[in-house]
Amino acid sequence: MKTYDVIVIGGGILGGAVAFYLAKQKAGKILLLERGNVGQGNSSLAAGLLTRGRFKSHLIPMVLETYRAIEEIEAASGEFLNMRQTGCLYAAVSPDHQKEIADLVAVSSQAGLKVEWLDKADATRLVPWLVLPQHAAVAFMPDDGYIDGYTFASGYIKTARSLGVEVLENTVVFSILRDGGRITGVRTANEDISAPVVIDAAGVWAGMLAYEIGVGLPMAPIRSHYWITETRSFISPIQPFVILPDARAYARPESNRLLFGIREKQSASIHPASLPHTINGLTFRQDPRGWETLMEGAPKLSLFFPQIDEIKVTNYIHGLSNYTPDGNFVVGAFPGLVGFIAATGCAGAGLAMSGGIGRLVAELVTGQNPFVDPAPHRIDRFGVVDPTDSDFIQRCADARSGKVTG
Ligand SMILES: Cc1cc2nc3c(=O)[nH]c(=O)nc-3n(C[C@H](O)[C@H](O)[C@H](O)COP(=O)(O)OP(=O)(O)OC[C@H]3O[C@@H](n4cnc5c(N)ncnc54)[C@H](O)[C@@H]3O)c2cc1C
Repeated sequence: MKTYDVIVIGGGILGGAVAFYLAKQKAGKILLLERGNVGQGNSSLAAGLLTRGRFKSHLIPMVLETYRAIEEIEAASGEFLNMRQTGCLYAAVSPDHQKEIADLVAVSSQAGLKVEWLDKADATRLVPWLVLPQHAAVAFMPDDGYIDGYTFASGYIKTARSLGVEVLENTVVFSILRDGGRITGVRTANEDISAPVVIDAAGVWAGMLAYEIGVGLPMAPIRSHYWITETRSFISPIQPFVILPDARAYARPESNRLLFGIREKQSASIHPASLPHTINGLTFRQDPRGWETLMEGAPKLSLFFPQIDEIKVTNYIHGLSNYTPDGNFVVGAFPGLVGFIAATGCAGAGLAMSGGIGRLVAELVTGQNPFVDPAPHRIDRFGVVDPTDSDFIQRCADARSGKVTG
C-alpha cells in the first residue's frame, strides 16, 4: 500500500492552499487527491473579492495571509495571478447600514488597514456608474483586490507541486479510513492509500465524507449567485469593487461588464446527501434561474445603478459555499479522532481566507504555534451537530441571508 505523511482531499482553493503551506513547512510526503481537475469546483465560480475589512477582527490576519500567499506564489512561479488591486468601496444610506460601515472602518483601522472616508464626488469619480444620495456614507479600502478563483487555486497547486507535493487528478476518494480513534488513510477506486493524517478539504462534499466516519461538521451547502451584464464603456476593470448593504448587493467590473451579486432574503440550500458529484449538475428547487431574486433585488439596486433597468444581463452564475451558523470556519481536529483535520466551512470567503486557512491547518499538522487563535473555527464549537438535520441547515442558510460584507 502507498504511504504518505499527509493526504489532502480536494483540489480547490482550500485544498490547494493547505498543500502549499504543508509543503512550505516541510510536513513530509504529501498527496493531494482531486475527483476531477484541480480548481474546477466552486472556487472557479467565485466572484473573487478579497475583502480585508471584517467585522470579526480575528479574521483580518487570515485574509492578510492570503495577500502574502499571492505574492509568494507569483515570486516562486514567475507567473502573474492577475489580481486586480482596485480597492473596495462601501456605500451606505440608511442609518443602520451607515453605523455598520462606521463599525467596519473602526475595526479595520484598529487592525492597521488602510481605510478612508470619501465624499460623494470622489466616490463617483472612482466608480462612474455609481449613483449616491448626498448623505451616503462612503468608505474606501484602497488595497483590496479581486482575483479569478481558478487561476488562484491552480497557482497554489502548481507551487505546491514544485515544492514536492504529489497531485492526483481524476481520483475520487470514496471514504476516509479510520481504525477506532485513529485515521489510517483513504479509499479510492483503485486502491487504499495509507496516511496518519487526512485533511478534508473537499468543499461542499467535505461534510458527507466526514459524516460517514462519524464526524459532524457544523456547516451546510448554501447557494451564492451573481449576474453579469453586457459590455458598457462606463465600466472598466480598474474601477474599485463596491459593497452596497442597502441593496444587499455587491458589484465589480468583469472587464467592461458589471458583475453583481444580490443576496436573497432566504438563501437556498442543498441537503448535503443530495449534492451532485460535480457543480455542473447543480440545480435548485428554490428560484432555479435566480429570476425571483433579481426581480426582487433590482429596484433597490437601481437606486445605485439606474442602468440596471435597461442593461442586458447576459450571464447568471450560481454555486455553493459551506456556511456555518456563526460565520467562522470549520478548521482543525475532531476530538477523539487522531489524524482527521477539516479545512472547510469557508462561509463564502474561501478565496479571501485561503492563505489564513492553509497556514493555520499546516501549523496544526506540524505542531507549531498557530499564527491565529484556532478556537473560533473549532469543529466542536456547537457541540454535537447533525449536518443532515434540516433545522441545522436552515441556521446556516440564515447566516448567509444576514451577511453584510463582501
Ligand atoms: C457564486 C459564488 C461567489 C463567490 N464569491 C466569493 C468571493 O467573492 N470571495 C471569496 O473569497 N469567496 C467567494 N465564494 C466562495 C468560494 O468560492 C468558496 O469559499 C471556495 O471556492 C471554497 O473552496 P473549496 O476548496 O472548499 O471548494 P471547491 O473549490 O469546491 O473544491 C473542492 C474540491 O474537492 C473535490 N472533491 C470533492 N469530493 C471529493 C472526493 N470525494 N474525492 C476527491 N476530490 C473531491 C471537488 O472536485 C473540488 O474540486 C463564492 C462562491 C460562489 C459559489
